[in-house]
Amino acid sequence: MLPAAEAEAKILDLMPLPTEVELVSLNTCLGRVLAKAIPSPLDFPHWDNSAMDGYAVRYEDVQGASAGQPKVLTLTETIPAGRSPQLLVGPGQAARILTGSMLPAGADTIVIQEVTQREGDRVLVLETPAPQQFVRHKGSFCRAGDLLMAPGLSIGGPELAVLASAQCLQVPVFPQPRVAILSTGDELVMPDAPLQPGQIVDSNQYALAALVRQAGAVPLPLGIVPDQPQALRAAIQSALAQADVIVSSGGVSVGDYDYVDEILAELGATLHIRSVAVKPGKPLTVATFPAEGGAAPLYFGLPGNPVSALVTFWRFVAPALRKRSGLATSWGPTFVPATTRDALKAGGQRETYLWGKLTATPQGYEFGLAGGGHNSGNLINLAGTNALAAVPVGTKLIPAGATVSVMVVGS
Ligand code: AMP
Ligand code: MG
Repeated sequence: MLPAAEAEAKILDLMPLPTEVELVSLNTCLGRVLAKAIPSPLDFPHWDNSAMDGYAVRYEDVQGASAGQPKVLTLTETIPAGRSPQLLVGPGQAARILTGSMLPAGADTIVIQEVTQREGDRVLVLETPAPQQFVRHKGSFCRAGDLLMAPGLSIGGPELAVLASAQCLQVPVFPQPRVAILSTGDELVMPDAPLQPGQIVDSNQYALAALVRQAGAVPLPLGIVPDQPQALRAAIQSALAQADVIVSSGGVSVGDYDYVDEILAELGATLHIRSVAVKPGKPLTVATFPAEGGAAPLYFGLPGNPVSALVTFWRFVAPALRKRSGLATSWGPTFVPATTRDALKAGGQRETYLWGKLTATPQGYEFGLAGGGHNSGNLINLAGTNALAAVPVGTKLIPAGATVSVMVVGS
């Protein structure tokens, strides 16, 4: 039984980084990972412009201005945003300017409207501004040719805004990992089937497909595979032909019908991990297939119990998918310290995860245990939770009010 942290490190080592790059349109790149550095094609701002509504002036003309001794300037023109200035601002002159408008030649400072008084084609300046105040200088945010965005960034709203501003219409991104999902078990049926005694619905297929998608990968749900070696072999071979990563649930413990490890070995895979010291989720198989041309496909055999399947996915599969998708951030799960409202009990032999709700309070994070049984087969009380409190090996009790490390798995 491998300790959890060692298993995580080993899995990340086995998972290759992406190497290929594809171009997708600006309109469809949301959620993808940037694959190349984007140099700025332009200066940002593109020209000197005003940060405020007011008047563009020459600083030397308004030095010493006050309410008692205003400086009087003659207006040259009004410069709306989107039009270039027509006239030079000469000594004793000012131009009416609006937020974002280009600074006219001659002017170097903006006087905000609130400290002026307009009289026809003249303006009275009632306060001395700081030199160059409210001027956004050309290239002060980013210069043409400088790095606009580094590879490995996940493209969200702010990144889309930057790409759009740089007129980057075709965005280089990493291909999304394709993840085949198999559910093994003779007892499993689809949600629309009438349930016979002994049968249960294949809920893992739905949960795992959702988590794969949330991890930025593409789920390939390949359905239910009966507990028959032939069927399992065929299903794994078919998954290998279409996916970079295979995630199966069930069939990895020591039961009479648990064939996954045996079939993997028969198919030439190398088994790297067979069990991890976590609860729930001890039987976890991680294997690699020989690379045929591309990267070696990685196989995750998760335990079948619904909670075990999800916990092992969050703890071990999701970080590996983040690496495979090319994210430059740390891939591992996010653990935060939280005050637990409830006592947390564990066996002390394995790292134990207890599910519940993490809330941010002005005093810091708080963790509340989900009500109901904490049993790996009970998927019902997982709904509405967003975090797993981790009780370390060697600890049997974390009392209410104490600090616990909590893994964030949802929002
Ligand atoms: P196994 O790991 O195959 O021994 O399965 C352990 C438990 O998880 C059994 O009670 C199964 O019925 C249940 N189980 C296995 N696969 C699934 C699945 N895809 N959806 C829901 N429950 C499952
Ligand atoms: Mg089974």
